[in-house]
Amino acid sequence: MSLENKNPKTYRESGSKGGAGASAFAREGISIAQLRAELNGRVIAPDDAGYDQARTVFIGGIDRRPAVIIRAADATDVARVVSLARETGLELAVRSGGHSGAGHSVSDGGILLDLTDMRALHIDAERRTAWAETGLTAGEYTTAAAAYGLATGFGDTGSVGIGGLTLGGGVGYLVRKYGLTIDDLLAAEVVTADGQLLRADARTNPDLFWAMRGGGGNFGVATRFQFRMHEVSTIVGGILILPATPDVIAAFIAEAQAAPEELSTIANIMPAPPMPFVPVEHHGQLIVMALLAYAGAVEAGERAVAPFRAIATPIADMLKPMGYPEMFLPEEGDYHPTVVGHTMFVDTIDRDVAETIVEHLQASDAAVRVAQLRVLGGAMARVPAEATAYAHRERRIMVNLAAFYDGPEDRAVREAWVMDFAAGLRQGDSGAYVNFLGDEGAARVRDAYPRPTWERLAAIKARYDPTNLFRLNQNIPPAIQTPGQ
Ligand SMILES: Cc1cc2nc3c(=O)[nH]c(=O)nc-3n(C[C@H](O)[C@H](O)[C@H](O)COP(=O)(O)OP(=O)(O)OC[C@H]3O[C@@H](n4cnc5c(N)ncnc54)[C@H](O)[C@@H]3O)c2cc1C
Repeated sequence: MSLENKNPKTYRESGSKGGAGASAFAREGISIAQLRAELNGRVIAPDDAGYDQARTVFIGGIDRRPAVIIRAADATDVARVVSLARETGLELAVRSGGHSGAGHSVSDGGILLDLTDMRALHIDAERRTAWAETGLTAGEYTTAAAAYGLATGFGDTGSVGIGGLTLGGGVGYLVRKYGLTIDDLLAAEVVTADGQLLRADARTNPDLFWAMRGGGGNFGVATRFQFRMHEVSTIVGGILILPATPDVIAAFIAEAQAAPEELSTIANIMPAPPMPFVPVEHHGQLIVMALLAYAGAVEAGERAVAPFRAIATPIADMLKPMGYPEMFLPEEGDYHPTVVGHTMFVDTIDRDVAETIVEHLQASDAAVRVAQLRVLGGAMARVPAEATAYAHRERRIMVNLAAFYDGPEDRAVREAWVMDFAAGLRQGDSGAYVNFLGDEGAARVRDAYPRPTWERLAAIKARYDPTNLFRLNQNIPPAIQTPGQ
């Protein structure tokens, strides 16, 4: 593969006036005017109206000022921006839905390549496939697909981008029935570090395709994904709230593991928020806020959720037949939580483990604190671990711990609580799901991949991105190449 830029472009005129990011941009001698002339999409400079909004990411407490924000219109723009980053050496941030827990989708002083204007979706209902540009959110894709009675599984939140979610794996409401999002990824188009637009699928660039299914944004900028779709129209699902005693939590997990694969569950153990559907006497008390989705016939779905209703008298029972997109709850537009978290896998949640969960949650006074339990297995677990870069196929339960914080001092307190909680739950290795990592350092990125997976990823990184151009991510540094390799 040639690493030469086929269309070398230099951008040397006057720079833009603005903040620290803008002066860094000017130092490189790059002209905003020239960029505007050359790109099909929008170029947002620090002194433009809309700059502050465009640099805001989902997670709160991140205040970074890119030298320029480029809202790419198409793959040609993406290739140009990748080349610009390579030529200038400026840090490149890639943003799809902006939900990175580590704040990786905005750069301080570098280039922000924002894909949110690339949202084309072509659904082939007959073949049950879709080509989706990566600026789409999970909610947008799911709503459009539902018009054909079809779905591809993403996560639990509609505003999450399909870009970041897919490249890390994708664990959601169809995980037990149809696997991870990447298990439905048929092909991708990707701009690699040399500025080329490549196709990656099982036959074309198969190593790149393998790496992109779990290896995150390390290998290039994905511009389009082709997904397999499934017939999913009316599901039985929604919210079920139970009191969170150790017995209830343990019984919930046992039922979730015994349930048919059509049923995927997410159980959030947390103090009850003051929501209208939670009776006042429960506010602040520990609850199991469970989300259930049965992707199959309605009658069978009603049978599958019945044992959960019988675990304890529900505090709220909103399970019902519904359209699949309704699983994505309404979201507040300007919501930017400051949160510390820890993601891990466990294999058992029996009564003792459930008691540990309750004790830790009771010991904290964080305004929002949660232990999220996702029972895995089913179709996800049948894919061989070496088939994709997401390799934790045999792990039975994903646990995500989180606490909201208010300012740096509080952050330290909440972080200590999360780490202590995680230590209390640890079973076996310290594996992690890359998409739920925060900015936690290189060792935690290593935790996301077993050694053989990591070594293969690093070797593929060395081929496609030897200078680590794509480094503002959960980074997999390129393997050091010995001469002759
Ligand atoms: C509220 C919330 C709920 C979540 N729920 C789930 C869930 O249920 N299941 C689940 O699996 N995950 C879930 N996640 C995690 C989520 O999958 C990751 O945070 C993911 O990275 C977000 O993708 P994004 O495109 O929105 O984020 P971005 O911040 O835009 O992207 C994250 C990173 O991914 C890379 N990236 C994004 N798009 C591209 C692209 N097109 N090409 C190359 N690299 C790219 C970049 O490195 C970027 O820094 C959730 C996160 C949040 C905040």
